[in-house]
Amino acid sequence: SNPEQDFVLKTIKGRDVHFVRFWFTDVLGNMKSFAVIPSELENAFDDGMGFDGSCVEGFCRTRESDMLAFPDASTFQVLPWRPESNAVGRMFCDIRTPEGKPFEGDPRQVLAREVQRALDMGYVLNVGPELEFFYFKDQHSTEVLDHGGYFDLTSLDYASDLRRDTVLTLEKMGIPVEYSHHENGPSQHEIDLRFTDALSMADAVMTYKLVVKEIAMKHGVYASFMPKPLADAPGSGMHVHQSLFDLDGNNAFFDPNDPLGYNLSDLAKHYIAGLLKYAPEFCCITNQYVNSYKRLVSGGEAPTYISWGARNRSTLVRIPAYRPNREVACRVELRNPDPAANPYLAFACMLAAGLAGIEEELPLQDPTEGLDLFELSRQDLRKQGVRTLPESLGEAVELFAESELMKKTLGEHIHGYLVETKRAEWNEYQGTVSEWERNRYLEVL
Ligand code: GLN
Ligand code: MG
Ligand code: MG
Ligand code: MG
Repeated sequence: SNPEQDFVLKTIKGRDVHFVRFWFTDVLGNMKSFAVIPSELENAFDDGMGFDGSCVEGFCRTRESDMLAFPDASTFQVLPWRPESNAVGRMFCDIRTPEGKPFEGDPRQVLAREVQRALDMGYVLNVGPELEFFYFKDQHSTEVLDHGGYFDLTSLDYASDLRRDTVLTLEKMGIPVEYSHHENGPSQHEIDLRFTDALSMADAVMTYKLVVKEIAMKHGVYASFMPKPLADAPGSGMHVHQSLFDLDGNNAFFDPNDPLGYNLSDLAKHYIAGLLKYAPEFCCITNQYVNSYKRLVSGGEAPTYISWGARNRSTLVRIPAYRPNREVACRVELRNPDPAANPYLAFACMLAAGLAGIEEELPLQDPTEGLDLFELSRQDLRKQGVRTLPESLGEAVELFAESELMKKTLGEHIHGYLVETKRAEWNEYQGTVSEWERNRYLEVL
């Protein structure tokens, strides 16, 4: 038998676990779960546990409604916020069809496939995401808990204990945290995870989002990863730091002799060029909601135009300057994704874009180091011939629909589902009439 599975079975006895939650993720990035009693586990490892997939977002075609969840023993953890007796454990699952084939609607396997492709080329993708979010009094309002700003402390930062509790819980679940702090917006916060390989990190992001919400609930407040909940405060991003390591564990992005002075290898430059080329096509994945595009506007710290550089926080890709151990820490930061993205699909699409840049040996455009483009609208940028990100979900979904790279990376099932769903979402939004329109037009027209 398998030592990881034996370890799970032993831990279940030793820690009085009575429920084992099977976790998996739908196409939009919502966590799904059902609980299994420990005596079922041995069978589940061998044969999977059956469930009806027809109600899971992005799974549903009725003829495919019977699915099997195969738990990944290496992801077993006890949930620290549940009772210690009759405790609750969890494992992430891979989804298969009744014939035992990987199910093409399972986002975790999309990422696993892309990670394998990188491995075949000789690389491991490491990622370190920074997820921002807001605390509100409850889920029905946007009443904030404090009026603090960037790095504020104590009385302005009502949430110190919330963050502390969240970080400690994540650490108990084997997820190391590197930074946590108050963000720019009132009641806005950020917790940054220590980098690791992309698949482990996508699992960790799913856990992180749940833990932030669970701990908030315990304290009687609500945590939201909505990209832009407040009109007059910054939105919440999920910057993704990324680098390729070779199979000997060396950072393949690092080159101390870079003639441009960024310590970036040619490989890194092709990778960045790939991110820049394909960003408009993967935006529908990294920024998947109508609301996502309210964050991506000029003048803030969210990107609007296709650019890279070190000192300018409005660039799409930034080369971070702080590097305590520069060989390991050499990396690129992609700044358009938001925390409402499905992390499996988002990481898979970034990796696909970067690898395409390497395969196509794409040249890297000049960096943008001034602040000259910072306040310009998309229209002005486009007039100057600067490529920009899509300005709405409607624009993003059409670029995504046409994208061969996205179709290849996600597979027909997920790509087709998202094109249909996101077009419907955009059309529904277009059909609504907002407060802003009534205020602006009703009395004058
Ligand atoms: N909140 C900003 C965004 O939307 C980022 C701010 C920051 O981390 N410097 O991306
Ligand atoms: Mg940060
Ligand atoms: Mg931040
Ligand atoms: Mg950042």
